[in-house]
Amino acid sequence: MALVLKNGDLIDGTGKVVKNAVVVIEGSTITAVGKAQEVKIPEGENEVIDVDGMTIMPGLMDLHDHLWGDTSEFIMIGGVPHDRFGEEVTIAEDHDAYLAIFMAENAKKALGAGFTTIRDTGSPRDMTIDIARAERDGLFVGPRMLACATVDITFPPGKKQVHFTEGGNITGPVEAARAVRVKVGSGADWLHLMVTGAAAGFWGAEDHLLTFEETQAATEEAHRLGRRVTANACGPQGMKDAVLAGVDCIEHGTHLGEDDEVAKMMVDHGVGWVPTLYVSIAKKEAADDAEARGEESGLAEYWLKRELELIELWRRGFEKAMEGGVLTGIGTDTGAPYMIHGKNAKELEIYVRYGMSEMGAIEAATRVNAEILGMADKIGTVEPGKEADLVVVKKDPLKDIKVLQEMDNIHLVFKGGKIVADRRS
Ligand SMILES: [Zn+2]
Repeated sequence: MALVLKNGDLIDGTGKVVKNAVVVIEGSTITAVGKAQEVKIPEGENEVIDVDGMTIMPGLMDLHDHLWGDTSEFIMIGGVPHDRFGEEVTIAEDHDAYLAIFMAENAKKALGAGFTTIRDTGSPRDMTIDIARAERDGLFVGPRMLACATVDITFPPGKKQVHFTEGGNITGPVEAARAVRVKVGSGADWLHLMVTGAAAGFWGAEDHLLTFEETQAATEEAHRLGRRVTANACGPQGMKDAVLAGVDCIEHGTHLGEDDEVAKMMVDHGVGWVPTLYVSIAKKEAADDAEARGEESGLAEYWLKRELELIELWRRGFEKAMEGGVLTGIGTDTGAPYMIHGKNAKELEIYVRYGMSEMGAIEAATRVNAEILGMADKIGTVEPGKEADLVVVKKDPLKDIKVLQEMDNIHLVFKGGKIVADRRS
């Protein structure tokens, strides 16, 4: 028995729209796609779903998620979550059992919002590795998950690694390669190398954490073991080092617009970019919302000032990357303060605001993301032979990209041919 979607407008992920399309799913796979009159529907009793007036598109992907972080249930004071008793919440230090359930629930929120694949870029004690494994084992239904394990420099006692992970405490290339072996051995799909500080943290964009030799040793070892590597790299020199060390992808890259060589080097080396533009805008919006309510945002003035600078810096980088043809995917940094699970599609709105077409933003979140993951033969487009990861949207995202953020519009979500979110009734 096949599952047949009919009467929808199809955005196939390659830049094409097929009006009045039919999509045939058999098992976990898409077996036929095209105009109604051209598609041969298998004989026998099929399950036919009429999606008249709706849009069928590939499942969305978020390549920069932190399932362990979430502030939506808490009260933010000074950018730090507090519970209803006024106690500061430190989710990262909670018991693993609690954190595991919390992370699985957040993964489900992403799936319900149409995100059928996420790459978790770092979690306390690399717990995402186990969450991803539990999902693959069928212990719960979440998105396809790629777990990143963090590789970071040696920290002084008491200082936290950026993702509250054990980053391997790297001093020297041998330790970098050793950390990669340990982390791949425990199940990491990707390695996330802290090449520079983050845009907003104890270490800044211009602080070089892992050395070039450490970055190269970690990358070579990861590749030897068949894993991909992404670099947390914000300043131009850090980004260049990461590219020359052979990484597959760069996270944030806040200062890409400040330098004339970085974008070209990324294109030449086929390095993907996951900018996470909304993460700074989210703080500005939180401050604006608080002001509109006549309340204090709680964000320190210096913090907000830095975020406003970052917003402009990031925008220039994004424009430069678009001009230069950098392979730009989409990730959100959901889990960072004010970034809420299930609202991941906000990032697409920012791409459109900064000049990308709606179609371009959808392609970035689907086909391009699949390319960066090295999974383009399996997911990312609606074509015969691909896994049936699909979203059916009530309103047309090509007219207004924001409809992807409204849960009511996310009518049906399929992962591997199975309906995993159903809002038909
Ligand atoms: Zn992050």
